[in-house]
Amino acid sequence: MMHFISFMIALSLAGFHTSADYLAGDIEKPAAETETAKTDTEVGTEKEAEKETEAGSKDYQNDPLYPYIAQQNKLVEKDGVQYITNPENILVLANKEYSLQSSYSPPDLVRPNVTFSFGDAQVEKAQMRKEAGTQLEAMFAAAKQDNLTLYAVSGYRSYQRQQEVFSAEVDAKGESKAKEAVAVPGTSEHQTGLAMDISSRDQGFNLTEAFGETPEGQWLQKNAHKYGFILRYMKGKEAVTQYQYESWHYRYVGKDAATIIYENDWTLEEFFQHVRALQKKIDGGMAK
Ligand SMILES: [Zn+2]
Repeated sequence: MMHFISFMIALSLAGFHTSADYLAGDIEKPAAETETAKTDTEVGTEKEAEKETEAGSKDYQNDPLYPYIAQQNKLVEKDGVQYITNPENILVLANKEYSLQSSYSPPDLVRPNVTFSFGDAQVEKAQMRKEAGTQLEAMFAAAKQDNLTLYAVSGYRSYQRQQEVFSAEVDAKGESKAKEAVAVPGTSEHQTGLAMDISSRDQGFNLTEAFGETPEGQWLQKNAHKYGFILRYMKGKEAVTQYQYESWHYRYVGKDAATIIYENDWTLEEFFQHVRALQKKIDGGMAK
């Protein structure tokens, strides 16, 4: 329960309205947690910490989120921007709050052997990090088995390229509209080499919201997690991700994390809110 309450506090601190939608995604509580509901004011008190038993502390290690405590962003603040100092982390959380440094490019980019919307052109955006690329190949092959041809449209994008894309959008639509649609340089997941935009022939290989309703888009929503990918910017979670719904943007996080995220209907932000809540709980337990 404390886990859950911490999460709710984290959400309200972040300025989000808590609602039943968030409740629905809460993970199963550890077996040792049998306390009844507490009010928010009780959380974090000495009294609370005393209630945690030794058995309870060990139980945290069985929490499916426990392995991910070590995979949170490590940060350094410069000029009011939070920069990620462990960007090679497969679970790196790059968003409007956490930036990649302009100097970061992934160490192990490869060109996956999949169908691209641009054919054989040797371009930067054909690349992904090795592990993500291998799983992308497996995912595209599995879709093919189901008679669906996926097309990779855009993968790795360097900081410099993102800057060009962003500037073009600002010129076309103005800065605030641009920020809604295009990531500010350093905040794009494409710079991690772990994201791929995907489309289909009947969408003209374009990145369209309607792709989510096609057999290819539906297949991905149901199966991507088996290959370690998540639909990153979900419909209805715009307030959390601070991005519009993107039916085409898939992010590699590894199979285990992707399955947890999929089963709980979380965004990557929500996943780490839960990881942070677990960490707080453990830290609280150790502080006694
Ligand atoms: Zn994308």
